Amino acid sequence: MIHLLTGIGLYVHIPFCQRKCPYCAFYSVPMAGQSPNRLVGALLEEIDLYEITEPVETIYIGGGSPTCLPPEILIGLIVFLKNRFGDVEEFTVECNPAQVNRSLFEQLLAAGVNRLSIGAQSFDADELKILGRLHGPGQITEAVKAAQSAGIENIGLDLIFGLPRSKLIVWQNTLDKAMQLGVQHISAYSLTLERDTPFERAAQQGDLTMIDEVVERTMYELARIQLPSDGFRHYEISNFGRPGFECCHNMHYWKNRPVVGIGPAAASWYRNRRTMNVHDIDVYIEAIENGQFAHIEVQTPTPEQIASETAVLNLRLPEGIDIAEYRHQTGFDVEALFPDAIEKNWQVGFLQCSESHICLSDVGLSFADAVAQDFVL
Ligand code: SF4
Repeated sequence: MIHLLTGIGLYVHIPFCQRKCPYCAFYSVPMAGQSPNRLVGALLEEIDLYEITEPVETIYIGGGSPTCLPPEILIGLIVFLKNRFGDVEEFTVECNPAQVNRSLFEQLLAAGVNRLSIGAQSFDADELKILGRLHGPGQITEAVKAAQSAGIENIGLDLIFGLPRSKLIVWQNTLDKAMQLGVQHISAYSLTLERDTPFERAAQQGDLTMIDEVVERTMYELARIQLPSDGFRHYEISNFGRPGFECCHNMHYWKNRPVVGIGPAAASWYRNRRTMNVHDIDVYIEAIENGQFAHIEVQTPTPEQIASETAVLNLRLPEGIDIAEYRHQTGFDVEALFPDAIEKNWQVGFLQCSESHICLSDVGLSFADAVAQDFVL
């Protein structure tokens, strides 16, 4: 079941990591020498600036590595959010397997967290080294078991496939290990070369060769077959959840519903404005301490642009575009707005159309980006 979204989502970005992984383009800096207290103070002030009056349905503390924060600061932030916004349906904290233990999980649970997203990435020690991760496969298992014994019942693992020189058998092993742990949610993303990362530079210099596209696609297909056979529902292009454990927070993004993003580099879609915060901790803190937003981008999309974004995002879900809901949400008839995109992709078998929904076909899933491009106005 996918939850009905009535309130808004709140995302809090913690821009610290123990050290930077060479493939990662998320905004984060090494924790050493930073002032977490001052950052968290600014986060709380930024929340005030938004003057949120709508019910907050989900809270997601991500990063970076939120578990880089000293536990008392992380717990203090969670308690503040809980007191401020009350009981939320889903309260997630991203965890780095190298930075957690049962005591921390018990404190998170007591403070109001009911979901963990653990950055596992792979159960292969060599792959974790290639990715520059600080944890080994054993620490992922320990982290999941510690969380389960602390009483957390909604645990997700993030996995990456398609690493340089990876093999199907290695990915199969990672999927097997993830399934054996009895988690509720798995995100499986293929490795992409992000701009301005050490991986991109290595690829440009010929020191890193990305995996063959056919092997990468086969790995994706493997996940699409294996995870549902263990009871996971493939409910978004890259996400699999046991029934009732789909990530409610991310549904806000895929349904193009409002999300307020707090923190350096956080993005918001709120009260018809898309904003992006500055990618610099000091500049961010200074602006917020002066009572100003730290936006570096502010856009007010047209109704047509919102309708286009909504179609692109909805197509990531297996049910695709709910024609009636889309009309209610955007004010547009999707078939009238995108007649050519629908006709073209239906003709080649990438889209399935019924009276009530337009969605990607099984074949279309592998060409999701190209199909989505046709819905961009
Ligand atoms: S992948 Fe995660 S831990 Fe590594 S640098 Fe990026 S945010 Fe930090």
